[in-house]
Amino acid sequence: MEQQALGRVLGRAFRSSQVRLVLFFLLTWLAIACLVVFLLLEGRRQAERGAEAEVSAISAILEARLSGAFQRVQAALEHLAITLPVDALEYAFVEHFRNGVVRELGFHARQFPEVDSFRILDAEGQLLYASRGRPDGGDFSDRSYFKAFDHGAGNGLFFSEVQTDRLTSRPALNVAVPVRTESGGLRAVIVAQLDLAYLSSWFESVGVGGNGVVSLRRAEDGSVILRRPFVAGLVNQPLTNNVLQSQLEGGARSGTLRMSAAVDGVERMYGFRRLGDYPLYVTAGRATVDYLAEWWHAAWLAGLVGLLLFLVMLLVLVRFLREVGQEAAAGWRVRESEARYRMLAENTRDVIWTVDIPTRCYTYVSPSISEMTGYSPAEVVGQPFDARLTPDSAARLAREIDLGLRRIAAGDRAGNVLVSEFDQICKDGTQISTEVVSSYLLDEDGVVRTILGIARNISERKAAEQALRESNRQLHARIEEIGRLQVALQELAVRDSLTGLYNRRYLDETLDREVSRARREGNPLSLVMIDIDYFKRVNDTYGHQVGDEVLRTLAATLSTDIRAEDVACRYGGEEFLILLPNMPLETAILRAEAWRAAVERLSIAHGNFELTFTISLGVSAYPDQGKTPDDLTRCADQALYQAKHEGRNRVSMHCD
Ligand code: GH3
Ligand code: MG
Ligand code: MG
Repeated sequence: MEQQALGRVLGRAFRSSQVRLVLFFLLTWLAIACLVVFLLLEGRRQAERGAEAEVSAISAILEARLSGAFQRVQAALEHLAITLPVDALEYAFVEHFRNGVVRELGFHARQFPEVDSFRILDAEGQLLYASRGRPDGGDFSDRSYFKAFDHGAGNGLFFSEVQTDRLTSRPALNVAVPVRTESGGLRAVIVAQLDLAYLSSWFESVGVGGNGVVSLRRAEDGSVILRRPFVAGLVNQPLTNNVLQSQLEGGARSGTLRMSAAVDGVERMYGFRRLGDYPLYVTAGRATVDYLAEWWHAAWLAGLVGLLLFLVMLLVLVRFLREVGQEAAAGWRVRESEARYRMLAENTRDVIWTVDIPTRCYTYVSPSISEMTGYSPAEVVGQPFDARLTPDSAARLAREIDLGLRRIAAGDRAGNVLVSEFDQICKDGTQISTEVVSSYLLDEDGVVRTILGIARNISERKAAEQALRESNRQLHARIEEIGRLQVALQELAVRDSLTGLYNRRYLDETLDREVSRARREGNPLSLVMIDIDYFKRVNDTYGHQVGDEVLRTLAATLSTDIRAEDVACRYGGEEFLILLPNMPLETAILRAEAWRAAVERLSIAHGNFELTFTISLGVSAYPDQGKTPDDLTRCADQALYQAKHEGRNRVSMHCD
């Protein structure tokens, strides 16, 4: 189960484009890295093969040169051995022999620049002749070559160890041949003293690199005769536990091998070669560090380039992955957004639509169009955008679109969203009102290509609004009516129903207010109290209704002859009181007199009779006759009483 789950996870991961890209990158880089490593290893092998060939060639050149030199020296020595007169050994002190032999030795020495000198020792090891230097009887019997020959060693060429020459104090390799008596005894030894400094110049002429080495060694024990570079203390030292030496001892005459030198620990590629039949061999070694120097340089360079390539590829990969990730995220967001809007578009009761500007036809209509108008989306898509609108709405929509396009073309992006109301005709012929929110969608160049809109059926809302408006209007009318009734009611409350004048309650309120104002403002105020004379008789004579008519006529007469600010009221029964704000007593008396005269002139038709009547009037004024409403009223009443008392149909201002 776990393996299956792991397999599924890996399968999913591999299907991911990012993972595949990373794998591709890693494999590509690995392939490049493998190729570089392969080329480097191949280069290293070539460098090793080159070094092998080089040291082999150098050892061959040195072998040829040294072998040739030794052969020629051997030939010279053997020639000297054959041609050396026997007498010359016994009579070396004789000038005749001496000069001849020395001349002969000198002749040979001049032939061989590598030979420092030729010498001849007698059977006791005493130096008899020398091509160079003064032979003053030096004893060389302790020398290895002499000892070897003295002890019966063969007649071949003998190579001594490296010795410091007694005469020249220079290191030298002595090569010697014996001169034997007929019985095989030692008669003389002829020695060629090889100049190691000269041979060393040959070694230096071959290029083995800064850490390379060239040496001439003895075959039997590997001891050093000559080594370049020179290391003090190595000369004549045998080799122990040395692979190269082992190969030689095993019979190998030439070869190459790589090993680390015991002397300096440097690893080298060595080429070795025996010098013909001589017990010597040469080695040429190139240090690994030298012959691989260029390879190392190339390897570092390749490594650096590989690393740089890796970093660059990694950088590119990371950026690419980031872009891919961003694109994927953007794509996902777009898909999510599309799904969200599609869900909204297909499930809302509003109709969502798009109109292509160039053709002005619907390019998309959401399914809810069916519920709203009865048309299916397929019936609407491709149709002109105004096909289902009423003529008024179609004309208005066309104007709005033209206006919107002009505004956007002028650079005004503010009015991009419009809210309008249009009337549409449904499939069944009914008409609905829709509220449309539309927005202009611009492409990357800022050109409007599409209108996106949302249409909502607002017929019910409009009907409800209309009903609300109507009930609102009715409510306002009722409120106004109630207001009017309230005003009328208020009027009724303060008016006397018979005469239409204010009633006593209203007068009491007004009088209080006006007296306060007169006091506050320092203005005068007058009261005129009126009573119909002998009114009881009118009632008794003509009836109560005629009495009422008299009351109404008097009230009408008073009302037509007062100022706007004057307040005329029916004080009670057939008594009236007139409040005259801002009017002094004298003026009030004149006014009262005018009313009295006017009433006197009145006549009321009643059948064949003309009814006339009079009134008596009492006047009081603030502040002289009273400072309070009660005082003023009482004073007016007293004045009225006075007028009655004095005979009626008159004006009185008397007050106690
Ligand atoms: P005087 O000159 O002294 O005032 O005599 P008078 O007859 O007018 O006497 P008085 O003021 O006492 O009489 C008032 C009468 O007014 C009594 C009453 O019948 C009558 N009256 C009161 N109110 C009304 C009313 O509303 N209509 C009618 N028709 N008569 C009323
Ligand atoms: Mg009265
Ligand atoms: Mg009266």
